[in-house]
Amino acid sequence: MSQVEEMPRQEPPPQETHSLTAGESSPTDLYDKCIFLSRNLWWSWHPEVISLFRDLDPIRWRQLDHNPIALLKEFTPERLANRASEMVLYSRINYAVRRLKEYLATKPNWGATNTGVLGAKPVAYFSAEFGLHESMPIYSGGLGVLSGDHVKSASGLGIPFVAIGLFYGQGYFRQHLDEDGYQREEYQDTKVENAPLEPARGPDGKPVTIQIDTRNGQLFAKVWLVRVGRVQLYLLDSNVEGNKPEDRELTNRLYGGDERTRIRQELLLGVGGVKALRALGITPGVYHLNEGHSAFGPLEVIRERMHYEGMTFDDSLREVAQRTVFTTHTPVPAGHDRFDGTLVEEHLGPLRDALGISYEQLMGLGRVEAQNGDETFCMTVVGLKLSRRANAVSNLHGHVSRRMWAHLWPWRVEEEVPIGHITNGVHVPSWLAWQMRQLYDRHFSPGWSSGMGEPGAWQNIHQVDPGELWETHNALKSLLLTFVRRRLSRQCRRREEGEDAVEAARNVLDPNALTIGFARRFATYKRANLFLFDLQRMLAMLDSRERPVQFIFAGKAHPKDEPGKQFIQRVANLRHDERFAKKVVFVEDYDINVGRHLVQGVDVWLNNPRRPLEASGTSGQKVVLNGGLNCSILDGWWAEAYDGANGFAIGNGTQHVSDEITDRRDAEALYSVLEEQIIPTFYDRDVDGLPRKWIKMMMNSISTLAWRFSAHRMVMDYTRACYVPAAGGLSCDMPDI
Ligand SMILES: *Cc1c(COP(=O)(O)O)cnc(C)c1O
Repeated sequence: MSQVEEMPRQEPPPQETHSLTAGESSPTDLYDKCIFLSRNLWWSWHPEVISLFRDLDPIRWRQLDHNPIALLKEFTPERLANRASEMVLYSRINYAVRRLKEYLATKPNWGATNTGVLGAKPVAYFSAEFGLHESMPIYSGGLGVLSGDHVKSASGLGIPFVAIGLFYGQGYFRQHLDEDGYQREEYQDTKVENAPLEPARGPDGKPVTIQIDTRNGQLFAKVWLVRVGRVQLYLLDSNVEGNKPEDRELTNRLYGGDERTRIRQELLLGVGGVKALRALGITPGVYHLNEGHSAFGPLEVIRERMHYEGMTFDDSLREVAQRTVFTTHTPVPAGHDRFDGTLVEEHLGPLRDALGISYEQLMGLGRVEAQNGDETFCMTVVGLKLSRRANAVSNLHGHVSRRMWAHLWPWRVEEEVPIGHITNGVHVPSWLAWQMRQLYDRHFSPGWSSGMGEPGAWQNIHQVDPGELWETHNALKSLLLTFVRRRLSRQCRRREEGEDAVEAARNVLDPNALTIGFARRFATYKRANLFLFDLQRMLAMLDSRERPVQFIFAGKAHPKDEPGKQFIQRVANLRHDERFAKKVVFVEDYDINVGRHLVQGVDVWLNNPRRPLEASGTSGQKVVLNGGLNCSILDGWWAEAYDGANGFAIGNGTQHVSDEITDRRDAEALYSVLEEQIIPTFYDRDVDGLPRKWIKMMMNSISTLAWRFSAHRMVMDYTRACYVPAAGGLSCDMPDI
């Protein structure tokens, strides 16, 4: 088992033996310590540090989106000291500070043993979004949460690693539903002073800014530093003097605006990101492009090598591709960014001059057929052409991607198209409920969490007393219901629906009923409405007296996705229907916080996309950690995860050319698995009231899946199969799990 200094067993913090000793912890000293903790997102995956902030002021903590920087602003050092004495926080604060300092000062063995070839040259990981915590709204959904989890595990494993993204002044929208259940989008300015940002400084100690030449003027950006454990995340921000007014707003919103906005954002992320690293004095050994948004980046690296080392374009391209890793996430052709030649020339023209290549040569890099003038410039194609190693994000998605891009390698048979796969995983400490974590700490071997990316760590789950596991799960379920009721009553109040409605919202859902969660982007292929396919059959399950079922939904639709918004409307408006009221609820404004509550408390997590459109999916992996069971189409990660005894499958993984037929068959399969397997197993209780068979499945799910779909396993795979060989170390095949 590898030794990763992470998540040590939860020792109780030392007892408070004395109140303040003079000189040791003056109010300002204490205040500075709290500021220090709040400025590294390390706190966000340490429950004991979170609870410390919460104890300072539980109500404001919630109102401020769990943002410790904003919270501390409301305290003077004296008031903080008073509150700390009142709540007996001194030793907890000191203990947390010591642990963070130790964490930053140590080099975990795993990284030290496995990444020697990288030396002082880190992996530079580029992503358009990072989902690190609800208080940092620079993510929209799955891709961002994946990047955030990747960074956190890279920190935990001790891999030399920096990350590059954009700072969005407003981020993604906040979702409210109006009286008609229709999604309204609200954009809020992020208060920079309340975000864990500091100006990134170059070797000369001065804040770094970068500039990019385009055919119609220069584009400027400043660079922020975010500390995520041992990893530095750099965010480019175009809101600087010198930029035209419209460029100052360029990085305002995530996935907003038109093609022009997009190409300019991507120019900033890719080319600007490489320039920022140079200005910071960082020389990466490997470039990892997480999705096509950053795929202009390697062109700038190629230019650097030509400029500084006098290489030819072709030699430089070959060397840069050797060091570049590309991950594709999109299983549908329409989902890949494409730009027409005019936009490309306007933005890449000056760089093209420096590279000494023609317009046609540049465009050829983004086309499947380089000479085909009708083809637009595709970011995925350029990503594939400029990287020696490329991967999809699940086994099934690997097959889909090889087929989709086979024409890029016309001389190869499909199985030999050089796109492998590394299945996504989740950062365990970020998604694991504290109560479940305590149970694991008691039963797993000491230091289990250092090996959480390997199977051994989790096997003792089978030794846990079934009653204890069940009780812990039910405690979490009850916390979820409290959360949902509070959110729903708040939603009613905001819509000014009157006290009766608010009161009704406080009483929705039944703590004893089988609770099914469904939270994801409301893209139509995810089919949030599938459960309504046959109303009578569904109602029979919802209405059952002995064996009732209930649903909790959440999710945003892209602002331009009208059909997605109608799906939301249909589900949300069920609350006005007697037959569904109190049994099917919709929680607004799905984000990391809502997600965390849901994945920690549901009995079953439902996932019914139209196969094979879900590249991986990760939300169900978070459910595994907390003892929930997955019920899913055999798509994305579940196609390789399901073994017949660790959850439930909808259908048998077949597809039909007609969506209509597929939907009907999948709905049938969903009803069958609910009626024949899920409901009977959940309600089959022994004399102690325990669903023995169900609990056994929970244990199977944890022991077979938690390690495999952890971000630690994922980052270890990336390291061995991609980072090390890209840096010139021994090659190793993509793992086949
Ligand atoms: C985990 C997560 C996702 C990704 O989940 P999918 O299974 O890909 O839908 C999206 N949004 C949030 C807030 C998450 O926490």
